[in-house]
Amino acid sequence: MATKAKAKTASKKAATKKAASKKTSTAKKSGGTAPRATANSPFRNYTPYEPKKKETYMNEAQLAHFREMLMNWRRELMEEVDRTVHHMQDEAANFPDPADRATQEEEFSIELRTRDRERKLIKKIDQTIDRLDQEDYGYCDTCGIEIGLRRLEARPTATQCVDCKSLDEIKERQIHG
Ligand SMILES: [Zn+2]
Repeated sequence: MATKAKAKTASKKAATKKAASKKTSTAKKSGGTAPRATANSPFRNYTPYEPKKKETYMNEAQLAHFREMLMNWRRELMEEVDRTVHHMQDEAANFPDPADRATQEEEFSIELRTRDRERKLIKKIDQTIDRLDQEDYGYCDTCGIEIGLRRLEARPTATQCVDCKSLDEIKERQIHG
């Protein structure tokens, strides 16, 4: 009985491992924690860029396309930060009950963390727009190849190609367990 259970656990483990490696190879941004992933895929409405035949990678039109995406994303984040601030101001009423106060404080600390994350993301977007201005956008920082339109549309702040990113994530997992 015990051995059977053990085997079951083992196969389950293997399945998880398989799923994990699959995730990496499709490179659907698996790094980091879940909230970061959500923050990094805010694109509900944009038109994928369709390059013409023999179109030069990162020509004016493509740069403009990504600039627009980044600016929209930035604006959405700024609005979100505003909303959080206003929400906290509205909620900052006095709660005479210490239990209520504790709940509110916890809520606030969650919101503050969210805001902090949004701020960092806005900073990253700004840095990306700077690179766009210098026409130093769309190429892998590590190996220099084209990151590609589809990957950049999924993650406009990407600075690495899929392969280098995956490699880094594997290395990181080995270091941090
Ligand atoms: Zn690369």
